[in-house]
Amino acid sequence: MKRIVKNGPFWMFLIVLFALPVLPKPLHVPEYWITLLNYIGLYSIVAIGLVLLTGIGGMTSFGQAAFVGIGAYATAYLTTQFGVSPWLGLIAGVLLTALIAWVLGAVTMRLSGHFLPLGTIAWGLALFFLFGNLELLGKYDGINGIPVLNLLGIDLETGRHIYYLIWIVVLGAVVSVQNLLNSRPGRAIRALRGSGSMAEAMGVDTGWMRVVIFVYAAVLAAISGFLYAHLQRAVNPTPFGLNHGIEYLFMAVVGGVSHVWGAVLGAAILTLLQDYLQTLLPKLLGENGNFEMIVFGILMVLLLQHARGGVWPFVARLFPRGPQARAPNDVHPLPMRSKPAAGERLLSVDKVRKEFGGLVAVNDVSFDVKSGHIIGLIGPNGAGKSTTFNLVTGVLQPTRGTVTFRGERIDALNSREIARRGIGRTFQHVKLVPGMTVLENVAIGAHLRGRAGVWRSIVRLNRSEEARLMAEAARQIRRVGLEKHLYDEAGSLALGQQRILEIARALCCDPTLLLLDEPAAGLRYQEKQQLAALLRRLREEGMSILLVEHDMDFVMNLTDRLVVMEFGTRIAEGLPHEVQRDPAVLEAYLGGVE
Ligand code: ADP
Ligand code: MG
Repeated sequence: MKRIVKNGPFWMFLIVLFALPVLPKPLHVPEYWITLLNYIGLYSIVAIGLVLLTGIGGMTSFGQAAFVGIGAYATAYLTTQFGVSPWLGLIAGVLLTALIAWVLGAVTMRLSGHFLPLGTIAWGLALFFLFGNLELLGKYDGINGIPVLNLLGIDLETGRHIYYLIWIVVLGAVVSVQNLLNSRPGRAIRALRGSGSMAEAMGVDTGWMRVVIFVYAAVLAAISGFLYAHLQRAVNPTPFGLNHGIEYLFMAVVGGVSHVWGAVLGAAILTLLQDYLQTLLPKLLGENGNFEMIVFGILMVLLLQHARGGVWPFVARLFPRGPQARAPNDVHPLPMRSKPAAGERLLSVDKVRKEFGGLVAVNDVSFDVKSGHIIGLIGPNGAGKSTTFNLVTGVLQPTRGTVTFRGERIDALNSREIARRGIGRTFQHVKLVPGMTVLENVAIGAHLRGRAGVWRSIVRLNRSEEARLMAEAARQIRRVGLEKHLYDEAGSLALGQQRILEIARALCCDPTLLLLDEPAAGLRYQEKQQLAALLRRLREEGMSILLVEHDMDFVMNLTDRLVVMEFGTRIAEGLPHEVQRDPAVLEAYLGGVE
């Protein structure tokens, strides 16, 4: 009940939305407005896919209009040429789009930086010209005489009829994307932004995840195209060209590119604005043309300068945020892997070498980590510590030498496979998803301990697993002492707390070895003390830790053994107080002593 009251504006919106076409006489909505609303709905479906792909996944696509075209042409062709049911046309359109998107995605989604948007422009243009040049699709004249949709015996003949179908699909798209984002694969998708190296280290197959959301966004576009074809009863290539691809992107950005409802708002704003400008601008300029594109462009620049988040944040509080992850109590805990006996040799780095061109960053370095120990890997800047760290975590492969973990060689494995074997890591420069709660961020660490994929997440068949993952994340958050911040946004924490969050996230993958890259860098004295206390406590609980550190004082009273590197070479190894007196170490750190 409380939720219904709180979401009052949202329910009002839904009631008005569904009552509009059937309002009686004095409030009767003219046909023209129904048509506009139908188009807003159709555009929303495409823009929702773009929110997922661009706003959340971080991949800009200018080519969505082409997928709308595939959905529209598939049903147009099949229903007019072979007289099949439009619903078969829908299935064919969706499957064809998914297949094409999968192939295109497998090629273009791996492109980085500006190459990806350029790639989407290339295939957006290619598909447009294909529609216009294929004899069987009627070339630039297109296909006419597309039949009316029939749903449950009702002919969706007028705009007022198909209106309901369109808006039910819009709501379905919103709910499906919200469910997806609030799930195990959804958290992986939200971690894709930037390089994706954090997600990979948590066991996420980022290349595959990118293809998945690309296909999902394309399928939404194809469904919109299907509805469009049966609304218009005719198709031609014009609405599937590149400038419409750009308009879809505008809609997502104007609304608020990382909010699902923002897509609907953006579609509404741009459709109404375009309608208004198309009558206004020719009057002002005395000429016909696509001048509204120029106004859109200016609007876009202003928006990116002054309201990065789009218009959505200004109306966001009126709408529900979609399901929020909570940490339940009493659920069946996740299974844990078998732990090594104390003192067992866990990690063995043997004469490992890494060359970057002519530079030897790591020069035949060897050391072991025994179970239940904290080992410090220290050395001045540029000594090769991070490179060694990357060789152990699978970010880099050694030029020579071997790395063995629990008796298995791991030096040829990638970071995902290494995470799967039980090595958890943190990053020298904190990598978290600032807009996500602490709980959700930590739950990314449990990615490999869940199974639910995209389908199960969309229809919410993942609930019992979700509860177990959240309970595990909450357990690790309590273990490191961040429980007060469970539902705070990760970006609002102090740097020291963000570092601790990363440790909780690494613990969430149930590691037997924890690798920390300069965890004390940038921390205040008090925060360093808290961090050291936490690491000691983890050791008492049986955790093994390899700590890369620049700060000699921090490691002195914490570690069981130290390995010292300088210019890529191991110059000392032993108990901390021995190493501290080693002349070579003093030379390296202090530039020699008297
Ligand atoms: P540390 O972490 O001890 O400060 P690094 O392992 O980051 O040192 O770097 C060791 C040396 O290797 C440095 O001279 C650095 O410039 C070089 N180096 C590190 N990564 C690369 C790379 N990807 N390509 C070329 N040189 C690199
Ligand atoms: Mg480093």
